Amino acid sequence: MKQVHIATFGCQMNERDSQTMARVMNGCDYRITERMEQADLILINTCSIRRKAEEKTYSLLGRLKDLKNRNPGLVIGVGGCVAQQEGPRLLERVPHLDLVFGTRMIHQLPALIEEVRSGKNRLSRIEMVQGELYVRDLLMAPGCSPGLKASVTIMQGCNNYCAYCVVPYVRGPEESRGSREILAEVEALAAEGVQEILLLGQNVNSYGLNREGELTFAGLLDLLEKVPGLERIRFTTSHPKDLSPELMGCFGRIANLCEHIHLPVQAGSNSVLERMNRGYTRQDYLKKIDQLKARCPGIAITSDFIVGFPSETEADFEETMDLVKAVQFDDIFSFKYSNRPQTPASNFPDQVAEEEKGRRLMELQTYQKKVTLSKHQTLVGTIQQVWVEGNSKKSPQDRMGRTRTNKIVNFPGPPDLLGKTVPVRIEKAYINSLKGVVV
Ligand code: SF4
Repeated sequence: MKQVHIATFGCQMNERDSQTMARVMNGCDYRITERMEQADLILINTCSIRRKAEEKTYSLLGRLKDLKNRNPGLVIGVGGCVAQQEGPRLLERVPHLDLVFGTRMIHQLPALIEEVRSGKNRLSRIEMVQGELYVRDLLMAPGCSPGLKASVTIMQGCNNYCAYCVVPYVRGPEESRGSREILAEVEALAAEGVQEILLLGQNVNSYGLNREGELTFAGLLDLLEKVPGLERIRFTTSHPKDLSPELMGCFGRIANLCEHIHLPVQAGSNSVLERMNRGYTRQDYLKKIDQLKARCPGIAITSDFIVGFPSETEADFEETMDLVKAVQFDDIFSFKYSNRPQTPASNFPDQVAEEEKGRRLMELQTYQKKVTLSKHQTLVGTIQQVWVEGNSKKSPQDRMGRTRTNKIVNFPGPPDLLGKTVPVRIEKAYINSLKGVVV
C-alpha cells in the first residue's frame, strides 16, 4: 500500500478539505502517514488568507527539494487557495513540484495523480467546476472510525467580496449542498459514533439561499436536531449581515444546538466597515448582539478583528475598542491587516505603518485577555455540563471536555468518561481553559 502525507495550512475549511483528501486517497489504497520521509505522495493544502500561512507553504516546498532528489518517485502536489491563485506559475516557481490542483479539484485527485505518475507530466488543474461534485464528502472508508467529533461542509465559496479577502476568487461563488444529502451524511456519522457535528461554510447564514426550494440554515438546523445520537451541533462562520431573526431564534429552542456563535465583526468604525465592504454598520452589529443576548441569555459570543486596515485612523481604532468594550466578547481572534494579492484592499492608499498596527493589536489583545479571564473567573464555583472529548493536553492523565458555550474544561477522571456529558464544578480559571472536578 502506498503512503500519503497531507500537510495543512490555514482555516477549518482547509482542515476539512484535508480530511476529504485523506478519504479520497484512502479510497484508492493510500495509507496516511505522519512521516514525510516515508511518503510516496505529499499533498500540501495551502491557505492564502494570511501572509504567514502562505509563507509556510513556500518554506515547506523549499525543504522538500532534498527529499525529491533522494526519491525521484515521490509525487508532490499543492492544493488549496495558493494553488488556485497561482496555478501554473507555481510549477514554474518550484521545479520539483509535480501537481497543482485547485480548490474544486479534490475529488479528481486520484485521476490527476495517476496522470502525473503514468505520463511523468507536471500538471496544473485549477478549473472552477460548478455543481455539487466538488463538495460531496465521501463517507468514512471501511475500518476507519470518525471519532466523536466531525465537521461537515454544508456549502462552499462566497459571494461577499470583502475588500481584504481572497476567498471569493479562490473558492468561487457560494454553492449549498442539498439538505437531504447533508442529513444523510450526519446520520451516517452519528451511527458511527459521532456525537458532535461542526457545520462548515464561509457564510453558513446564507445556506440554501442560492438553491431553489432549499431549506434556510435555520431549517437545516431543525432537520438535524432529530438525528439520533447527535448530542451537539456547532457551526462556523456566520456573516453578521445575514444573521436572521429566524436563525437567532434557534438558540435556546433547538435542543442540541450549542449556545455559542462566532460572529466576525472585523472593525468597530463605520467608515472602515464600509471600505471593507462588510455590508453592515456597527449599529446593525450591536443591535444583533443585543437581540442574541435577549433571546438566549448566557450565549457565548466570539469574533474576529483586523486592525490597521488601510486608512484606519486612531479614532477608527478607538471605535473598535469601544465596540469590544460594549459587547464583552467571550474571546476574539485578532490580526494585523496584511495585503493579499488580487484583493481590492491591496491597492488602497494610506497603508498603516507596521509598528502602529502592532501597537493597536497589542492594545486590543491586552484588553480582551482581561475580559476572557474575568468571564472564566465568574464560572468558578458553578457546575457546568461538560461533554468529554479527549485527554487534557497538558496532563494526559486528566480528561478534557467543553461546555456548550465552547469553554475548555480539564479535570481528573477515568478514560471511560469519553463521549459522556458530566457535571463538573469549576475550581480554577485560566485565559484559555478552566479546571474542575466531577461532582
Ligand atoms: S464573507 Fe468576506 S471575509 Fe468571509 S469568506 Fe467571504 S469575502 Fe472572505
